[in-house]
Amino acid sequence: MSFRTIEMVVPGILTSDGAGVNLRRIIGSPQLNMLDPFLLLDEFGSNNPEDYICGFPPHPHRGFETITYMLNGKFHHKDSTRNEGYLTDGSVQWMTAGRGVIHSEMPEQTDGLVRGFQLWLNLPKNKKMIPPYYKDIPAVNIPRVEFPGGITKVIAGKFMGVKGPGQPKTGMFYYDIKLQSQKELYIPIIDSWNAFFFVYEGTIIINKTVERDQLAVLNIKGGCLLKAGGLGAQFIIVAGKPLNEPVARGGPFVMNTREEIMQAINDYKNGILVK
Ligand code: MN
Repeated sequence: MSFRTIEMVVPGILTSDGAGVNLRRIIGSPQLNMLDPFLLLDEFGSNNPEDYICGFPPHPHRGFETITYMLNGKFHHKDSTRNEGYLTDGSVQWMTAGRGVIHSEMPEQTDGLVRGFQLWLNLPKNKKMIPPYYKDIPAVNIPRVEFPGGITKVIAGKFMGVKGPGQPKTGMFYYDIKLQSQKELYIPIIDSWNAFFFVYEGTIIINKTVERDQLAVLNIKGGCLLKAGGLGAQFIIVAGKPLNEPVARGGPFVMNTREEIMQAINDYKNGILVK
């Protein structure tokens, strides 16, 4: 059995997006442009409503999926395919932009707190123009798997035989794990899949210590054996099969070529993005 070690630790950069939402960009920044098939990972979290209350007013997407996971707080979603959702604490919104969607994402606090993640999962070339799809996954529909020393919420993929409700269009898993002080957990990962974890409480130790608010990129062979530090750890761990296709980015559009980005911009301008 081989074990993955940590290849790189990324702290993310503090930035703002939407109508002035302060957030930490962890993937999709100059430190880590992407980790195929993951294009972006943002953590938004604050006790101060001024950091996020204006939210993300209507904006378009094409060519990938967004997975929004609320640790705390609420999130109001409305889109051009008439989907409307209200995410609450611990729930997930899975949106496949496909050929096009225009949506708004407006956070609301619970007991003064909003905290969550948005992950962008790329779509393969032959699925970039599929019809948009949207699913709200309430917290009660996310299975919890208890094991000695911790508990895992399975958002997508299979953990210890339990399958999560997420339906990615490419191979991937997404777990939220709480590990008690000094406890160990082995997670099998398919060779060649890219994998990372982000610690949002406590510390995780492999070949080095990863602190709170840091993302660790793992190398590509074997599973990983994680150990929690003295205060325990809470972290998300995500892995996916790389697409190995060209990536052309144009803000909210991610396609394979520059021409396809120009087409997306034109379609948006001409009001046909969502038809
Ligand atoms: Mn969006």
